[in-house]
Amino acid sequence: MLLEQERAEVVRICQEMQRQGLVVGTAGNVSVRVDDRVVISPSGMEYADLEPGDVGVHDLTGEPVDARFKPSSELPLHLAVYAATDAGAIVHNHAPASTALGLLVDEIPATHYYSAMFGGLIRVAPYATFGTAELADNVARALDGRLGALMANHGAITVGPTLSKAFSLLPYLEYVCEVQLRAMAASPATMRVLSPEQMREASAGLSGYGQSK
Ligand code: 13P
Ligand code: ZN
Repeated sequence: MLLEQERAEVVRICQEMQRQGLVVGTAGNVSVRVDDRVVISPSGMEYADLEPGDVGVHDLTGEPVDARFKPSSELPLHLAVYAATDAGAIVHNHAPASTALGLLVDEIPATHYYSAMFGGLIRVAPYATFGTAELADNVARALDGRLGALMANHGAITVGPTLSKAFSLLPYLEYVCEVQLRAMAASPATMRVLSPEQMREASAGLSGYGQSK
């Protein structure tokens, strides 16, 4: 099967998103790019039953190369992000804290140093109908120089060089949003925010965080 390993990886990440409670039903999509091919989850299919052969392969214009089902309705968004950034993989979901915070702010204030994981202040892409070129455009712009963004009145997105890296950011984005929401609910006026210098230092620290490889 064409790109069998990548198709299996898309299934694994869809199921992992569900296992970790990061999706509601089939609300989300996952893709990985290999040269001029995009391997993307099919639209509206139960993740639990998904098999590698159900995951489609498309070219960079969206034309099916090997796809037995309709691709994710957000294929235009995935294509726009691949065209505008050097992302190798994309994960999109509708997790509750990310979605709730996207109703309230235009960017996530520098409250938690984890914002540095995403390349700085996390932007909220303006709302447009799901599946449209307008939404694709808004999200590609919000991701400029970033590894994550919120989508107003919709959800969240993370990107990375590989699918496992893109996915690994998703729970952190949800965590940052959850913390922000709790702080805003408790006392928005007294929230401490980090300075640009503190954010730069956090970013430098995170680049060497964990065990060296
Ligand atoms: P798909 O099931 O078509 O991928 O749509 C889910 C979604 O998140 C739409 O924005
Ligand atoms: Zn969505």
